[in-house]
Amino acid sequence: MAYDFDLFVIGAGSGGVRAARFAAGFGAKVAVAESRYLGGTCVNVGCVPKKLLVYGAHVADELEQAAGFGWTLEEGHFDWGTLIANKNREIERLNGIYRNLLLNSGVTLLQGHARLTGANEVEVQGQRYSAKHILIATGGWPQVPDIPGKELAITSNEAFYLKDLPRRVLVVGGGYIAVEFAGIFHGLGATTSLLYRGDLFLRGFDGSVRTHLKEELEKRGLDLQFNADIQRIDKLEDGSLKATLNDGRELLADCVFYATGRRPMLDNLGLENTGVELDARGFIRVDDQYQTTAASILAIGDVIGRVQLTPVALAEGMAVARRLFKPEQYRPVDYRNIPTAVFSQPPIGTVGLSEEQALEAGHKVQIFESRFRAMKLTLTDIQEKTLMKLVVDAETDKVLGCHMVGPDAGEIIQGLGIALKAGATKQQFDETIGVHPTAAEEFVTLRTITR
Ligand code: FAD
Ligand code: NDP
Repeated sequence: MAYDFDLFVIGAGSGGVRAARFAAGFGAKVAVAESRYLGGTCVNVGCVPKKLLVYGAHVADELEQAAGFGWTLEEGHFDWGTLIANKNREIERLNGIYRNLLLNSGVTLLQGHARLTGANEVEVQGQRYSAKHILIATGGWPQVPDIPGKELAITSNEAFYLKDLPRRVLVVGGGYIAVEFAGIFHGLGATTSLLYRGDLFLRGFDGSVRTHLKEELEKRGLDLQFNADIQRIDKLEDGSLKATLNDGRELLADCVFYATGRRPMLDNLGLENTGVELDARGFIRVDDQYQTTAASILAIGDVIGRVQLTPVALAEGMAVARRLFKPEQYRPVDYRNIPTAVFSQPPIGTVGLSEEQALEAGHKVQIFESRFRAMKLTLTDIQEKTLMKLVVDAETDKVLGCHMVGPDAGEIIQGLGIALKAGATKQQFDETIGVHPTAAEEFVTLRTITR
């Protein structure tokens, strides 16, 4: 049967654009449908605008440190409107780049919501298209628990477009987004509390990292409240929001920001017209080649809920394009040792196993851990400490995990990701010459076993 397209991609986000562009480059006839914004979450309401706001908040640190280096500055003034307008201009520029990337690679771009009407058929704006393969890359959406007053809360989607910087903010959650946005709001001058339902935030990260970040955030004056959860939110006459906690306490704020995880975006997608099944958590079920339970339909990225990171969605998109249209170049995505950063202030960089995961996996481990005051701070009054930690297999000498909390952690951990992928041993770390004077050299000069 002749189809309109070889591949029809639903969603022009990180994964969808990558798959579409490369499939077209391999000679396939490709269409992409996008209902909202080119570049998806990462470009519009995720990684990119988030990092720009983090840079904005970080300026406060630089200003605080300036006096130690002899600079006298007039009292600074921050204007939220300018930061958001400049950020919006940059996002629009990136939207244009994504449009050109798709069009220049010969992809047909369809603007509008796509709905599956069959195993090989998609409807966009009343028009039906047939395709040999369909790729669902529709991403995710913030999830807010069902409490009275939840409509008064915002999520990351709205935070990027607030008219003003709220004076008092309650951030709810203990994952990447909560920790990053608490740092942004606090850094830009809002009175900020982070409320997390458990004992300590960032579940799944290395224990030393979690404790260290907690201590550093508290030093900076961020109000951390653990074992705290909001039961209801009410609007008061003066416009303030009152959050009533599960322990009966009442907190007042101008903004309640929820970052309590993301659900797969399946709204009106028409899955009922196909054989696509969901897994126990509600994400699209796929096999190790991203094949759903319907033979002609694949899915990648946040909608499959494996690892919700842009570089992972990109790798999955690439794998699908190659498997379908350039099988000789196909290589499965390696989900081990994925480096990642949390752009908190200070940031976290991490790759490989945490100490807890290594022990749980049955390794006998040696721990090398160092806490020090970064050189840049020695001329200032700032007492922030950097943490660096290596988890090493005591029997094979292989480095199982590298963890850091401190300036540029994300930049530093990328290179260590390559070392771990190559299977580096602690001896090879030790034999690597350091770059002096840097903080990063500490990773190759850790000599004393802490545990
Ligand atoms: P998305 O990028 O979400 O793209 C899905 C696209 O599909 C969207 O454009 C959507 O409009 C479209 N769509 C949905 N349904 C339909 C439909 N029916 N028809 C047509 N189009 C549709 N990751 C990192 O690696 N680093 C970071 O620093 C980082 N920061 C983040 C910060 C925030 C605040 C958030 C929310 C996420 C962040 N992420 C980060 C995660 C990252 O953004 C996602 O993992 C990534 O965007 C997933 O890509 P995707 O292709 O699966 O989906
Ligand atoms: P996460 O899954 O990382 O964290 C969700 C947090 O919300 C957890 O602390 C969780 O607690 C808590 N939570 C969940 N449900 C509730 C509830 N009903 N009430 C109270 N608390 C709740 O999600 P995020 O929204 O922070 O981010 C989504 C994903 O996006 C991340 O996992 C990450 O993959 C990606 N991302 C990546 C970034 C980066 O690379 N720098 C930045 C931002 C996002 P508990 O631990 O107890 O379950």
